[in-house]
This record gives sequence, C-alpha cells and structure tokens, in this order.
Amino acid sequence: MVMKGKKGVILGIANKKSIAYGIAKACQEQGAEMAITFLNERFEQKLVPIAEDLDCGARLYPCDVSKPEEITALKESLEKDFGQIDFIVHSIAFAPKEGLSGRFVNISKEAFGVSLDISVYSLIEIVRELKPILSSSSSVLTLSYYGGEKWIPNYNLMGVAKAALEMTVKYLAEDLGRDGIRVNAISAGPIKTLAAAGIGDFGFMLKWNKAHSPLKENVSISQVGNSGMYLLSDLSSAVTGEIHYVDGGYNIMGMPAVEFDDEGKPHIAWNGEK
Ligand code: NAP
Repeated sequence: MVMKGKKGVILGIANKKSIAYGIAKACQEQGAEMAITFLNERFEQKLVPIAEDLDCGARLYPCDVSKPEEITALKESLEKDFGQIDFIVHSIAFAPKEGLSGRFVNISKEAFGVSLDISVYSLIEIVRELKPILSSSSSVLTLSYYGGEKWIPNYNLMGVAKAALEMTVKYLAEDLGRDGIRVNAISAGPIKTLAAAGIGDFGFMLKWNKAHSPLKENVSISQVGNSGMYLLSDLSSAVTGEIHYVDGGYNIMGMPAVEFDDEGKPHIAWNGEK
C-alpha cells in the first residue's frame, strides 16, 4: 500500500471518465484518503456517488477555481477534516469553444485570458493557498498534453495554455522544493473525456495517436492513474519539475508511421500491419 497514510485533494473529477478519477482510483487502491471537489451545484449531485465510491464520505467540496473565495474555503475545509495534506491533483482546464477550432489568429483576448486563468494560474493559486497545510513531504500533480509543445490540429488556445502550464510546473518546483513540496505534470495521450469532446476532430487525434505511437494503443485513465499515483507517492521522492509522458511513447516519434499505397497515396498503418 504505497499511499497508506497519505491524504490529499483531487480537483477535476467530472465523471468516471475523467483522468482525475483514474488518478483518484489508483490512489485509493494504494490506501490514500482523499477529498474531491465539484465545480458548482449542477455537478454536486453527480459527484455524490463518485465520492462514496472513492470512500471520500462527506469530503466533497465546491471549488470553482475562477473564484478565489472558494479556494480559500477549500483550504479551511481540508484543514478542518485532515489537518495536513500530502498531495494535490490539479486536473482542470478550460477554453471557450472559439479557442479549440478554426483559425488561431482569430482567438480573442477574452478567450485567451479565461483559458490561461483557469487552466494555468489556478495551479499557482491553489498551491499558494493550500501551502500552509501541505506536509513537508508533499506532491502536486497537474495534467498536460503534447499540444503544449508541438502544433496539434485544433488544440489551438489550449496548446498555449499547456505550454504555460508546463513552465509553471518547473518554476513552482524550484520555488517550493525548499519546502519539501514536489510539483510534476503528466503529459497524457488523448483520452475521450468531457473536456476532450470540446476539441474539434478529437476522434482523428485518437486514431492518429494509436497508429503512430510505439505501443499502438491509446492510453486509459487507469494507466494515467497509476503513473499519477507514482508521482504523488514517496516512490518518486527525488522527482520534481518533470513533465512525464504517459502517451504510449507518441512523443518520441520523429516521423509519422505513414505508409504509401500503390498509387503513392499516404495512409495510416494500423498496428504496424502491412
Ligand atoms: P474532464 O473529465 O472534463 O475534466 C476536466 C475538469 O476540469 C472537469 O472536472 C471540469 O469541471 C474542471 N473544470 C473546468 N473549469 C473549472 C473551474 N473553473 N473550476 C474548477 N474545475 C473546473 O476532462 P479530462 O480530459 O479528464 O481533463 C483533465 C485534465 O487533463 C485537463 O487539464 C486536460 O487538459 C488534461 N488532459 C486531457 C487529455 C485528454 O485527451 N482527455 C490529454 C492530456 C491532458 P466540470 O466538468 O464540472 O465543468
């Protein structure tokens, strides 16, 4: 039981398909105690059975990260229920629809600000607010995607947000290392979730990743969950500031594994079969 005695909070479970749920499940299986959060009353009822499933009991708190007072209230609830905590999972991102398809050049200042605020600044704010209750051997995890490093169709504004998030991880890791707080990100391969449904042509991303990753499979939330659990546990006690890929190896590919038919037209090679 790698997480026995560890307590933490998980932000970003929308349903049982959420990456955060995969991480929470892996932590629970390894003995962690957790609290989870919901965005607003509309989602509260949906999360009640999930909180029960995760043995969170009544530790289900509201937290819309665009409202600083809710982050402060979250800290107070966690302090009351747990005293100290050992881990935080930040699995939150948002971009208005206009930022996830179409011409990149047309992105508005407003959409840019909202996306960076919720997807990136919230990590800094949450860690700062919860820092007084973080133990001297604690771990923070956030979720990124390869579209923050390289161009990916339609990922547009979220690509810029993920680039900023990955640098935020590194600056936070340096700043908080002296306090015994580690900060890492998982760069996950594409997974069909609620948030992913907002990205134009997401089905194509799934097919492309499956065809071009060395493992020839898309990743699951339990695979991301297990890697996340490792980064939250003491097994990774010397790891901080990392962007850890859980993507079937897709990121190492320098050339897509496209094959050409007899007429010279490119097509995707499925599972390496000729
Ligand atoms: P998801 O299940 O839809 O989770 C996204 C979560 O963000 C939801 O719980 C959502 O809450 C929450 N959220 C949005 N705005 C918020 C706010 N203002 N305050 C608090 N919570 C807010 O989708 P997911 O794919 O698991 O996404 C989790 C993270 O993984 C995101 O950072 C995403 O970019 C990243 N990621 C996803 C993939 C993928 O392919 N799915 C790949 C790599 C990285 P509501 O649902 O209640 O609105």
